[in-house]
Amino acid sequence: MSADHSPWADDSVQLFRKSVRRFIEEQFLPRQTHWRAQHGPDPEAWPAAGRIGLLLPDLPEDYGGAGGSFAHQAVVLEELARAGVHFGGVIQAVVARYLLTYGSEAQRRRWLPSLARGELVAAIAMTEPDAGSNLQGIKTTARRDGDRYRISGSKTFITNGARAGLVCLAAKTDPRATAGRGISLILVETRDLAGYSTGPALDKIGMHGQDTCELFFDGVEVPAENLLGPAEGKGFAQLMEQLPYERLMVGVTAVAAAERAVELTARYVKERQAFDKTLFDFQNTRFKLAECKTQAQVGRIFIDHCIQQFLAGRLDDVTSAMAKYWLTETQCRIADECLQLHGGYGYMNEYPIARLWSDSRVQRIYAGTNEIMKEVIAWSL
Ligand SMILES: Cc1cc2nc3c(=O)[nH]c(=O)nc-3n(C[C@H](O)[C@H](O)[C@H](O)COP(=O)(O)OP(=O)(O)OC[C@H]3O[C@@H](n4cnc5c(N)ncnc54)[C@H](O)[C@@H]3O)c2cc1C
Repeated sequence: MSADHSPWADDSVQLFRKSVRRFIEEQFLPRQTHWRAQHGPDPEAWPAAGRIGLLLPDLPEDYGGAGGSFAHQAVVLEELARAGVHFGGVIQAVVARYLLTYGSEAQRRRWLPSLARGELVAAIAMTEPDAGSNLQGIKTTARRDGDRYRISGSKTFITNGARAGLVCLAAKTDPRATAGRGISLILVETRDLAGYSTGPALDKIGMHGQDTCELFFDGVEVPAENLLGPAEGKGFAQLMEQLPYERLMVGVTAVAAAERAVELTARYVKERQAFDKTLFDFQNTRFKLAECKTQAQVGRIFIDHCIQQFLAGRLDDVTSAMAKYWLTETQCRIADECLQLHGGYGYMNEYPIARLWSDSRVQRIYAGTNEIMKEVIAWSL
C-alpha cells in the first residue's frame, strides 16, 4: 500500500501526481547538491514551480491558484518527500491560507496571484529567540502610528526567511494585553524596506536545501492596512485555527518519508552481501523491515483518514495533533532502523537514507513540538 492507492486520490489527482513527479525529477533533483550547498533553492525554482501549479494547487483559480483541493497539496508534499527534496512551498501554502481565510479582498488580490506564480516568496514569522512553544510570550511589537505600524523586534528559525518578499508576522499590537490577546498578524513586504534585515543561513543538522534564518525589524514601517483580519488582537486565535492545516501537512510528509525509507532500505539489503549472503537473508533484517513496513502502513491508513476528514471539513484539532505527533515519531523511528540496516554507509551523506534520517528530526520540533501536541491531545481527555 502506498500513496498511489490512497482513497482520496482520484484519476485527476493521480494525473497531477505524474506531472509533479516528472517536474521534480527533471527540475529539482539534479540541483539538490547545489541547493544544499547554498542553503536554499535556486531563485528560478519558485517561478518554475509556479508555472506547473505546484505552489498553490489548492488555491481557487480566481486568485491565481490551480483550483484543486487539499488532495493536490498532499500530492505535492508526498512527491517532494518521495524525492527527498526540501522546498519551502509548504510555507507558501500556509501563508496563502491565512490570506484566503482572513485577508480582505484587496489583500487577496494583491498577493495571492504572485504567490501562486512564485514571483513572491512567503515566510511565516512567529518564533522568537525567547518564545517558541510559548508563543504568547513574543516581544516583537507593532505600534500603530497614524496610518502605519512601526515594528521592532526579531524572529528566528524562519523558513524561506532569506528570500521572503512577504512575511506574515506575529507581533504584539497591544503589549499590555495578557495572554495571546494583544497579538496580531501583519503582512510585511520586505523589498527595499528600511530597518528590515535578515541573518545568515542558520547551520542546521538537516534540511540543508531549505533556507532558515533570523529576521530583524528595527523601526520598520508598514501601512496599517496590512493588518490581517478586521481588527487588532486576533492573531493568536488565527494562528491556533490554522495550525491544524500545517500539522496535517507535516503528517503527510512524515508518512511519505517513512515509506521511502522502507523502499530504499529493502532495495539496499537485497544487494549488500555479508557472510556470503545478502543482508536480507538475515532474519533480523527481514523482521526489522517487516516492523517498519507495518508501522508505515498503519501511518498511511491514519493519514489517508485525516486527509479525507480535512477534505470533508471535519478534521479536528486533536486528531491533527495526533497525526503530527505520532506520524513524525514513527517517521524518525523508521528512519533510524533503516539507517542501521545500511551499516556505515547509512552514516554517509552520500546515501539518501543518511539525509532522510537527519532531515526527519526536525519534524518532531516545528509546527508545534510533539510535547505541545500531547498537551493538545490531553485537553480532550
Ligand atoms: C528547521 C526549522 C524551521 C522552522 N521554521 C519556522 C518558521 O518558518 N516560522 C516560525 O515561526 N518558526 C519556525 N520554526 C520554529 C519552531 O516552530 C520552534 O522551534 C518550535 O515551536 C519550538 O520552539 P523553541 O525552539 O523555542 O523550543 P522551546 O519552546 O524552548 O521548547 C524546548 C523543549 O521544551 C518543551 N516544552 C516547551 N513548552 C512545554 C510545555 N508546556 N510542556 C511540555 N514541554 C514543553 C518543548 O517541547 C521542547 O522539547 C522552525 C524551527 C526549525 C528548527
